[in-house]
Amino acid sequence: MVKRVYNFNAGPATLPLPVLEKAQSELLDYKGTGISIMETSHRAKEFDDVIKEASSLMKEVYGIPDNYKVLWLTGGASTQFFMIPKNLMKSEQGADYVNTGTWSKKAIKEAKLLGNVNVVASSEDKNFSYIPRDIKFSQGASYVHITSNNTIFGTQWLTYPDTGDVPLITDMSSDIMARKIDVGKFGLIYAGAQKNMGPSGVTAVIIREDLIESGPDELPTMLKYKTHAEKDSLFNTPPCFPIYICKLVMEWLKENGGIEGAENRNKQKAEAIYKVIDESDGYYKGHAELDSRSLMNVTFRLPSDELGAKCIEEAKAQGLTGLKGHRSVGGMRASMYNAMPVEGAKKLAEFLKEFQENNKVEG
Ligand SMILES: *Cc1c(COP(=O)(O)O)cnc(C)c1O
Repeated sequence: MVKRVYNFNAGPATLPLPVLEKAQSELLDYKGTGISIMETSHRAKEFDDVIKEASSLMKEVYGIPDNYKVLWLTGGASTQFFMIPKNLMKSEQGADYVNTGTWSKKAIKEAKLLGNVNVVASSEDKNFSYIPRDIKFSQGASYVHITSNNTIFGTQWLTYPDTGDVPLITDMSSDIMARKIDVGKFGLIYAGAQKNMGPSGVTAVIIREDLIESGPDELPTMLKYKTHAEKDSLFNTPPCFPIYICKLVMEWLKENGGIEGAENRNKQKAEAIYKVIDESDGYYKGHAELDSRSLMNVTFRLPSDELGAKCIEEAKAQGLTGLKGHRSVGGMRASMYNAMPVEGAKKLAEFLKEFQENNKVEG
């Protein structure tokens, strides 16, 4: 038996074991072709089936309406930070951005190079521990951009803002397909695959058709959504193997209760850890405010940095890895994306309770 641990890394993150096993079993001889899918032409029928199924399964499982396209692109979510304004920032008024953390800031920085950016709300005043409410959006903005889940700070939009006719564009890199949403309320959703969908190297973009059409003609070919939409993400060689893994992840999701199943498991996992934090008499201090807590990344600190380091080390010895918090928050972070089993979260919860018992602080 191969030794596997519970991997709480923030990304690249854990993948479903059945997906890895399937990939392993097909690695050398893909469906009787005698070659790997990695060695297959992206124009071959075998790969064409893979990319079509990845998109159609994603549409089915996530409930994506017919007037949206799924694109499989490269360059990570970070490339979307400039591709979005390049394609969609039109009016003099520019676009509205909400600043809820490091990734929002990076998106804002790129957009500012290309046009007017209105930062209409920010939670920087409290080290991004909450999601701003009652935001007033600008008149005539080209779009509104938000970061759905703030991977580093452990906050998440529990309900999305109503932006009326202005397209809502959302970085869902760390919570795509983690819960049921109304995709029809968004203009564009994008996500680097490496947290909730597959390996690094591919970025999924779900885009409403009218936004594809409205892009400018003068952009370099590779930067236009239209190019990739017209060629079904096969304008150039796409990241074939990561797309193949995403397809396996979609199949796994479908077989395991779809989005409802994933959401249900994600809630159980997050609740298990938040419960330990809330019942610890302040031993574990959550970073996120209660109404902004992420289902995906649970961020918390211990009474001292020394205890934090000890806790991370002891957890690792018990097969619970990847728990070190990001330096901008400190402490610990448990990232529990779709592929983290409920048992992993339960084991971590038990471990944290015991750690507190065994490492009491005086006064
Ligand atoms: C991890 C992450 C990214 C990083 O994107 P790349 O694919 O590495 O470019 C962007 N946004 C969010 C919210 C993330 O969690």
